[in-house]
Amino acid sequence: MDIVVLLKQVPDTETLIQIAADKTSIKTEDVKWVINPYDEFAVEEALRIKEAQGEGKVTILTVGPERAIEAIRTALAMGADEGVLIDDPAAEGGDALGTAKVLAAALREIPYDLIVAGQRAVDDDYYQVPAAVAAFLGIAQVSMVIKEEIQDEKILCERTIEGGTMVVEAQLPALFTTQKGINEPRYASLPGIMKAKKKPLAKKTLADLGINPSEVGEAGAKCRVMSLSFPPERSPGKIIEGETPEAKAAELVRLLREEAKVI
Ligand SMILES: Cc1cc2nc3c(=O)[nH]c(=O)nc-3n(C[C@H](O)[C@H](O)[C@H](O)COP(=O)(O)OP(=O)(O)OC[C@H]3O[C@@H](n4cnc5c(N)ncnc54)[C@H](O)[C@@H]3O)c2cc1C
Repeated sequence: MDIVVLLKQVPDTETLIQIAADKTSIKTEDVKWVINPYDEFAVEEALRIKEAQGEGKVTILTVGPERAIEAIRTALAMGADEGVLIDDPAAEGGDALGTAKVLAAALREIPYDLIVAGQRAVDDDYYQVPAAVAAFLGIAQVSMVIKEEIQDEKILCERTIEGGTMVVEAQLPALFTTQKGINEPRYASLPGIMKAKKKPLAKKTLADLGINPSEVGEAGAKCRVMSLSFPPERSPGKIIEGETPEAKAAELVRLLREEAKVI
C-alpha cells in the first residue's frame, strides 16, 4: 500500500512567539521548528499500516521553505521511505486553499492508496487543508480519526465526537486526519537518522507541477490575514494571607464580596 503523509513544519509550541512589524506574521528568527504534532501522529500511523501490510511505501509531502527539509528528514529517520518538498517563493503567503491546490497537484504525480494528514496545523489552526486536498482529488476524507483498520479496498475509521465515538467506512483511495490518542509516535533511532540521510528527497517548484503562480501563494489568496495579536495580559493573581484556614476563608469571602463584588 502506498501512503502519503502531508507534513507541515511549525514553530515548536515551547518557542516564544513574537509578532513581526507587519502585524500579520511572526518573527521567524530564533524560532525552533518541529514537525506539526498531529503530523507526527500521521507519520506513525502510516508506518504502522505499512508494517502491518508488510509492503508498500510511505512518502512525506511538504509545501514549505528549504528549512522544512529538516522536518522531512526527521520523518524519514522515523522510517518513512521518501520525501518531496515543494519549495517555491510564489507558493508562500497563501491561504489554506492555495496550500491544498499545491499539495493536490503534487499528489497527482505520486502514486497513493491512502493519504494521512494532521487534523490541524498548530500554528495557523485552519483545519482546512486536508479537506480541500481530498476535494481537489475527488476522494473520501475522514477527519479526527483515533483508530483505523484497512479492509480490502476500504478503511474503517473510529472518530471522536462529543461524548462518544463514530465509526465511518470509506472507499480507498481516501484521506484521513489524525486525532490525539491515535498512537504514540516513535522516536527516530540513531540508525534511522543515519539511513535517512541517504533516502530520496525530491525538491519541486510550481513550474514542475504545472501550477500557474498567480493561482496560489500570496497572489492567489482569497483569504488575507489582516492582523495578529496576543490575548490581553491577565491581571496578577492574589495570594490570600491568614493564620488559619478559617481566617483565609473569611478573607476570601470578604474579597469576593467587597472587591470582586461577585457574592
Ligand atoms: C508568510 C505567511 C503569510 C500567510 N498569509 C496568509 C494569508 O494571507 N491568508 C491566509 O488565509 N493564510 C495565510 N497564511 C497561513 C498559511 O498559508 C496556512 O499555513 C495555510 O492556510 C494552511 O493552514 P494551516 O497550516 O492552519 O493548515 P491546517 O488546515 O490546519 O492543517 C491541517 C493539516 O494539513 C496538512 N498541511 C497543512 N499545511 C501543509 C503544508 N504546507 N505542507 C504539507 N501539509 C500541510 C498537515 O497534515 C496539517 O496537519 C500565511 C502563512 C505565512 C507563513
